[in-house]
Amino acid sequence: METDALQPKRYCLYVGCGKALDPKMRKDAKFCNEQCKAAHHNPRRADTHPDIKKINKILLKNFLILGKALGNKEYVKKKREQIIKQGFNLDYYTHTHKDFIFCYRYGYHFKDEGYISIFIGFDSAVYKSMDS
Ligand SMILES: [Zn+2]
Repeated sequence: METDALQPKRYCLYVGCGKALDPKMRKDAKFCNEQCKAAHHNPRRADTHPDIKKINKILLKNFLILGKALGNKEYVKKKREQIIKQGFNLDYYTHTHKDFIFCYRYGYHFKDEGYISIFIGFDSAVYKSMDS
């Protein structure tokens, strides 16, 4: 009988996952579940992976909150608590540039204590004026 300890650790082959496979799985198992297998073989379906779905949902919610806060303005300053109460998740964003955090087309920063400053567009005049 082989023992688990002697088995080299195997990992899910789907790049969006990479979790360690259960050592009790078949020796030729490559994926931790059917969703990972499907996502690997059909990259267009990658966004159906539960991890990606979950994060996309959070990002979408953040995106909508930022857009609503901005309205048709280029720049607004809101109480930090106010947007957190709406369900804004500070841990998730799409990219950063210097001190600025982005969720797709919306940028924001927390340079003023207790406030969030939100602006639109990576190249907007507002963004440039703040980037000193
Ligand atoms: Zn997996």
